[in-house]
Amino acid sequence: MSPRSEPLALPNLQRWLEQRQALWTEILEELVRIESPSGDAAALQRCAETVADWIQRLLGPSQVELGSEQGVPHLTLRSGDGAGVLLLAHLDTVWSVGSFRPLFEIQGGRASGPGVFDMKGGVVIALAALAALREAGGQSLPVTLLCTGDEEVGSPASRSLIEREATRSTAVLVLEAASGQAVKVARKGVGGYNLRLLGRAAHAGLEPERGVNAVVELSGLVAGVAAIASPERGTTVTPTVFRGGERTNVVPAEAVLEVDVRFATAAEADRVDRELQQLSPAHPEAVLEVRGGANRPPLERSASTSLFQIAAQVATDLGWPPLEGIAVGGGSDGNFTAALGVPTLDGLGAVGGNAHAAGEWVELASLASRAALVAGCIERIGGESSP
Ligand SMILES: [Zn+2]
Repeated sequence: MSPRSEPLALPNLQRWLEQRQALWTEILEELVRIESPSGDAAALQRCAETVADWIQRLLGPSQVELGSEQGVPHLTLRSGDGAGVLLLAHLDTVWSVGSFRPLFEIQGGRASGPGVFDMKGGVVIALAALAALREAGGQSLPVTLLCTGDEEVGSPASRSLIEREATRSTAVLVLEAASGQAVKVARKGVGGYNLRLLGRAAHAGLEPERGVNAVVELSGLVAGVAAIASPERGTTVTPTVFRGGERTNVVPAEAVLEVDVRFATAAEADRVDRELQQLSPAHPEAVLEVRGGANRPPLERSASTSLFQIAAQVATDLGWPPLEGIAVGGGSDGNFTAALGVPTLDGLGAVGGNAHAAGEWVELASLASRAALVAGCIERIGGESSP
């Protein structure tokens, strides 16, 4: 396939997208109304099928594959030939069915609903961008859209699939929610630890001295765990869940601490791991088991530099104010692709707020504007990597 010789007229493409805002809103509403929490395979499958239907309606006959990895449904759309841009999205949300009410509501140019911002809006933006490129005659650009179903739980089933697709791509654009109007150029890595302290039960009234109190021993370590954090290096270490004891009259034999860890560099991940492994309880008979580690490597800024320059130029050509790129704490599937050395830019999804929180919302106009940004990026990246 021959690459386009002339760049797309981006303002026209943006206008085309804006004129179809009602359509993008309709797709968004349909996807949001299919509540699809992580772990609900049937709901995720319905969501994937709906996306597949919209692909056929927007793009015509397309190479769509509905698959499943360890029981978690996903969707892959391939267009064009050869290595190209990977658009990365996820269909799962953090909202269990029925937990967000009203299910879908529009008020003053904003829509709210479960996953509307994180990231069904991003899925719609990907579809709109591909539809706009097709309209503009750019359908020969090699693009793969991958929608997974377990991002919100750390992508245990999809990770290898994501990595496989990333290694055959020249660039990855992640449709996660924007930060204000900005895209995300760096993300911290994410780790999780489970500290289990084993003591010995005893009767709390008759002979507590024969026990080893797991709650006392583990709580003695909590402040030290928190102190492993290093704010100046961007490393947070946060004890989040503490459980211990079963009965009010028994010396607890077991206590558990869950720890959330975020780090900007792989070196910091190693340091935190080392220091956690070195913790030791005060009582000689208490046993500490430390399990866990990094779930997601950091998306270091260097991985996004080249793509951010392209996106910033696209924004300028669209007549926007200068595009900002910011570093954020939360991880995404972009962390995996960046760690493989594949250029990755994140936060290309919808503009909105309250991700994972009550009243999660998107700005409906951003569906068209961000789609124009994504389409422009695909076109420029395709142009650069073509001979
Ligand atoms: Zn997300």
